[in-house]
Amino acid sequence: MPKRVVLDRIDLLVTVDADHSVIESAAIAIEDGTIVEIGRSGSLQGDERIDLAGHLVAPGLINSHTHLAMTLLRGWAEGVDLQGFLERVWAAEGAIMDPETCALGTELGALEALLGGTTTALDMYLHPESTHRAAVRVGLRHIAGPIFFDFPGLDAMQWHERIEFARRWPEKVASIGGPEVPLYLMPHSTYTDSPEHLGEVTQIAEEINASIHLHVSETVAENDDVALRYGKSPVEVLESAGMLSRHVVYGHGVHLSDHDLELTKGAGAAIAHCPGSNLKLGSGLINLSRLQDAGITVGLGTDGCSSSNDLDMWQAMRMAAHVQAITSSPARVSAGKIFAAATRDAAKALMIDHLVGSIEIGKRADLIALDLNRPHLTPIHDVYALLVFAAGRGDVTDVWVDGEHVVKERRTTRVDAGEIMTMARHRSDSLKDLR
Ligand SMILES: [Zn+2]
Repeated sequence: MPKRVVLDRIDLLVTVDADHSVIESAAIAIEDGTIVEIGRSGSLQGDERIDLAGHLVAPGLINSHTHLAMTLLRGWAEGVDLQGFLERVWAAEGAIMDPETCALGTELGALEALLGGTTTALDMYLHPESTHRAAVRVGLRHIAGPIFFDFPGLDAMQWHERIEFARRWPEKVASIGGPEVPLYLMPHSTYTDSPEHLGEVTQIAEEINASIHLHVSETVAENDDVALRYGKSPVEVLESAGMLSRHVVYGHGVHLSDHDLELTKGAGAAIAHCPGSNLKLGSGLINLSRLQDAGITVGLGTDGCSSSNDLDMWQAMRMAAHVQAITSSPARVSAGKIFAAATRDAAKALMIDHLVGSIEIGKRADLIALDLNRPHLTPIHDVYALLVFAAGRGDVTDVWVDGEHVVKERRTTRVDAGEIMTMARHRSDSLKDLR
């Protein structure tokens, strides 16, 4: 018989189910990583009982667009726009980002994510086999994928090698193991990958049944550049390359025309909204109400740590709400919808809503517990307003991924965080000569 663990005496259980049910004085039973029962406090039987009195339990947060290994480049590209950012970051990446360093940066990022209550990340980065193995080791539900650039790029791979690597991706993911995740392919963008190459990537995605993640319309300059080359918007390039026949998650999607939105909606593509990065690089402001009105699924993300400097999904939620108030109206901001964009809707955006994103029987137990016994979380008039506008990473005490207790009383259980931080400091020292 598998062990049955009961999380008991939960003050507030925020399920983010279809009815947005919030249950007071609740308990959850977990068996084999799956949520098998939800009931009143003290009512569930189990082999092990974890007392969560004074805590709120919610679904783990989902970071829909990030580059975890860029934690090593935190603070490396300041006072620049996207173009300046790319120039500065690509130089640093060329200098240090071999597979081992990517793994180290990803371990650091996965640690930061988990300790702050993020349980899943859609992570686009070089050397995905190394990054995926590293993130799984730390305990994250981690979605990586083969990277595609027209040019050899920082990993020195030729195009045909990228294609071959992508064909072998399913067996690589299977051999690494870890929490269940879907397959993704990750061409960087329409300004680094030609329409012909995007068509080839689509073909591979069909062969291995993968979704696709790439940067789309992050800045006006990107739209201008793509329009100059192809006379089309980035979304129109995707559509004519046939890519929208697969499930696609756009990183950013800040500057989309009405026609782009129609194509996006028609294809069922989703947007990973990264307000922190968009604000810091001056890329632009998403009008979230416009995307919601168009019926497009939006998840939230942080982007990488050299453009938003942290992997804080609580800040991402808060910034998304503030940007929505400015671009439409405070009356349109629903903290419940914003929280869903970091959980339930993000899961839908990434096509993992059958696994995670809400606390419901049959779903995998990706959960976070927050200590409610804090002055800034007192009193509670509106639980979603509390989560979006007042709570933060420091309130997260415990985290479960796939039913495993990966953060226990604010400490990671799988790896030595101190050791990883020491190695990261040491490795980033080698960038000093480039400064
Ligand atoms: Zn990005």
